[in-house]
Amino acid sequence: MLRGQMMDRPLLISSLIKYAADYQGDVEVVSRTVEGPIHRYTYSDCHRRACRVAGALRRLGVEPGDRIATLAWNGYRHLELYFGVSGMGAVLHTVNPRLFADQIEYIVNHAEDKYVFLDVTFVPLLEPFAEMFTSVRGYVVMTDRANMPETTLPNALVYEELLSAEKDDHDWPEFDENAAASLCYTSGTTSRPKGALYSHRSTVLHTYSICLVEALGLSSGHAVLPAVPMFHANAWGIPYGCALTGSKLVLPGQHYDGESMFDLLENEGVTITAGVPTIWQMLIEHMRATGKSFSRPPLVLIGGAAAPLSMIRAFEEEFGCDTRHAWGMTEMSPVGTSGHLKPRLLGLPKEEQYAYKAKQGHAIYGVDLKIVDDDGKELPHDGEAFGELLVRGSWIIDSYFKDEDATAAAFDDEGWFRTGDVTTIDPDGYIHIVDRSKDVIKSGGEWISSIDLENIATGHPDVAQAAVIGIAHPKWGERPLLIVVAAGDRQPTRDEILTFLDGKIAKWWMPDDVQFVDALPLTATGKISKLQLREMFKDYALPTA
Ligand code: AMP
Repeated sequence: MLRGQMMDRPLLISSLIKYAADYQGDVEVVSRTVEGPIHRYTYSDCHRRACRVAGALRRLGVEPGDRIATLAWNGYRHLELYFGVSGMGAVLHTVNPRLFADQIEYIVNHAEDKYVFLDVTFVPLLEPFAEMFTSVRGYVVMTDRANMPETTLPNALVYEELLSAEKDDHDWPEFDENAAASLCYTSGTTSRPKGALYSHRSTVLHTYSICLVEALGLSSGHAVLPAVPMFHANAWGIPYGCALTGSKLVLPGQHYDGESMFDLLENEGVTITAGVPTIWQMLIEHMRATGKSFSRPPLVLIGGAAAPLSMIRAFEEEFGCDTRHAWGMTEMSPVGTSGHLKPRLLGLPKEEQYAYKAKQGHAIYGVDLKIVDDDGKELPHDGEAFGELLVRGSWIIDSYFKDEDATAAAFDDEGWFRTGDVTTIDPDGYIHIVDRSKDVIKSGGEWISSIDLENIATGHPDVAQAAVIGIAHPKWGERPLLIVVAAGDRQPTRDEILTFLDGKIAKWWMPDDVQFVDALPLTATGKISKLQLREMFKDYALPTA
């Protein structure tokens, strides 16, 4: 091998905010604060304050590699921590505040967090934990003195006071790009949470790739609103991507209801926004109920759970938005695929384009995909064969943080990561997620896709949300039960919904029953919790059994 003769410069997260400050320094970062008002400043301001964060951490005795937890919404102070904590060589551990109490206790102790930075809203949540956290030396409340609440948290500091003692400029340290930069735990719905420990290198490479037009399409001139929380898989890497490209960043704080989202999208001229289907469902309902429309419809990125075709259609036909469906996982930094349509597909009739848009897209550059059968044998990419999806790439974990058991189960012999998602891959490379392997319904030895059934049922005008679970059946093993939340004050009947499905699905996929509920249980990451649904319906017997 002839070695290339190029400089070996480390890929570090600090370079992203420094670049933003140097070349897009006047571009705005807009935040809806937890205190209420809208806050505005620029990437230059953000960089200066990230330098102060780094100085403050050093003064607190934080060493490279130490874990620093955040419990915070999407806002400018959280953004400063994204760059300041990782930039000085410590590890940003974004804690999902929606996790159960014992999970929060577990992950803070497992991560051995040294300090916890928290929004004022989380002070009451965290107070009862303080005694249980074994490694935490102190708490920094992300506010100023005027808004600092009374608290029993030991060693509670005020963020603004901490920063005010520091300097604006700072030479970011250089170190190995493989050093850990941030840590996210999976929501752990079926097992204990597992940590994905990202490196500087993996983060910077992921950032490059997601910015491409074929991925999320970030670039200067765009205004981007991540409605995915910064405590969940780094908000898909969007905060880093906006810094790299100099896109205006709009951070929505803690309110994700339809009205709050619409106001921010419209008032800030947002051109790209990203979120899970549950958020978009609220926005659609709000816009329908109020008759509001966008003066400049944004591109809506939908991921984290399957986007029903009816949602894609609503955005495109009712509100004039382009949509893009993406798939990924915490373990993948998180973006794996994006539903950007290849130029050839843009020539297809609209209905055929929708069929592609309802799929989860093709791999973004840097991610390899394969599907395998139960014996690990690779399956063809023909759009028909389905099996477990395995992935490989520079921003995909190679092991879980301090968790050998979870690691042992997560990879195949060649080191590919098992996603636990069951998918097809078509000849164009577009994947279609059939189910989580543990949610798939097996009826008479054949599989029924709960996701497909849910997506079709959601197309009924009286259905706001739908979920399908398998219920034990003496003859077939399992049969599907459809659980529905009605839209607004509508009252659809079981038979109306089943008639709606008739002809749209194979006969043997037809749910054996429909049950109505007021709301579906959600996981900490805003997805429908099949685990809780199965628990809710554990004593339910099918009329056909
Ligand atoms: P998380 O690690 O919490 O981001 O969850 C990752 C999981 O969410 C994936 O393994 C999928 O099961 C699911 N998921 C993410 N995006 C999609 C999507 N676009 N369609 C269907 N499921 C998705």
